[in-house]
Amino acid sequence: MTVKTRFAPSPTGYLHIGGVRTALFSWAYARKHKGEFLLRIEDTDLARSTAESVNIILDGMNWIGLHYDNADNVVYQTRRFDRYKEVIAQLLESGHAYHCYCSKEELEAMREQAEKEGTATYDRRWRPEAGKSLPPIPEGVEPVVRFKTPLDGATAWHDLVKGDISIPNEALDDLIIARADGTPTYNFCVVVDDYDMGVTHVIRGDDHVNNTPKQINILKAIGAALPEYAHLPMILNEQGRKISKRSGDTVAITDFGAMGILPEAMLNYLARLGWAHGDDEFFTMEQFVEWFDLKDVSPSPSRMDLKKLYWINGEHIKITPNDQLAQLLQKRLAVRGLTDTSQPPLEDVLALVKDRAQDLNTLADECLYFYQKQTPAETDVQKHWDDEAAARMLRFADKLEGVAEWNAESIHDLFKPFCDEENIKMGKLGMPLRLAVCGTAKTPSVDEVLALIGKEEVLRRIRS
Ligand code: GLU
Repeated sequence: MTVKTRFAPSPTGYLHIGGVRTALFSWAYARKHKGEFLLRIEDTDLARSTAESVNIILDGMNWIGLHYDNADNVVYQTRRFDRYKEVIAQLLESGHAYHCYCSKEELEAMREQAEKEGTATYDRRWRPEAGKSLPPIPEGVEPVVRFKTPLDGATAWHDLVKGDISIPNEALDDLIIARADGTPTYNFCVVVDDYDMGVTHVIRGDDHVNNTPKQINILKAIGAALPEYAHLPMILNEQGRKISKRSGDTVAITDFGAMGILPEAMLNYLARLGWAHGDDEFFTMEQFVEWFDLKDVSPSPSRMDLKKLYWINGEHIKITPNDQLAQLLQKRLAVRGLTDTSQPPLEDVLALVKDRAQDLNTLADECLYFYQKQTPAETDVQKHWDDEAAARMLRFADKLEGVAEWNAESIHDLFKPFCDEENIKMGKLGMPLRLAVCGTAKTPSVDEVLALIGKEEVLRRIRS
């Protein structure tokens, strides 16, 4: 049997990192088992499912790099209404579903009653039963279609993350599968889709645990083989509450992109939210696929840790080839007013500075002083600069001028004799030199920085 998993986001205007983690685990499970990972857009909420919010999902999936199979045949629920109608008709025909003509007022009264008694809400008054007489059909009322949930027993499954779960059927309503206007309802669409798509493993957030028994009962009624279920625990914010946009948490995948997080770092980080492979924190997606198993997913929620995300991101920046990083930085540098990065070549600059940044924005900032002297921070000036430093830098510029072969080594060779001559420690040379050339005291090894910036430009900056 080919493993088939799916990611089934509802377009809401952004791609939530919880959803991306679900997609990642579904993707990894399919890849590990040489199966298929499919995408389904649950766009039946027409008010929210604009073309734009659908595109946000597709763009997000593309950015993060979770490639789904059958990309030309992404399933959109809104294109499947005929199929849903067909299955509803079959269920009515086979006696697994029935029409219900209850009014709003009747349902409201039932709800109050059920709350008092702690039973299922709907009293099943229109459910056909042998020997039971149904109320007369009211005139002019379009009925809803309800599913005939088994009356006794329990609906149970072995959840691949949460273990055995069993829900008594008497706690389940005869749920509505088609509204009075004929449109199918959420749980019903999911069932028909999972069935038609041949999904073997439903991997999703545990906010859907309550839907699973309803879906299992419908699947049984249409004679479908049951998929395996794996419900993933929630992601909590750093304060330990469910992560949400409303609480002001960063949740949209594009916001993490704007923070300068690399997609592969995001995936690496999300993989560790609720799953572990020993103490491994930093790994590639190839390793993740090799190691991943649903049995290692924790059933309890995991907490966001932005510090760790940045650390992992820094590690991924280190292993990203410089030409690729240069490409990724173009826009960020342009925003900072830097478009010509040919001298010194950006790739050489990155080789020197990339270990110093945990996100692409900081990395972009680190590149700027190679091309243009920055305005120094007041605190740095106070700490490292005075009239003496100014005169000393001019004297050092003269030494630099004499360097025949401009490279880090020959620049370095000037340091000790100069310090001896001036009777100062290296710090009294290095820091003012950084300020004079770069405009910042925080740079990598100053000889290497100067070597890259180039002789003429270094002298020009010091002397101006
Ligand atoms: N559309 C649902 C959601 O975004 C997922 C449903 C499912 O995976 O079954 O939460």
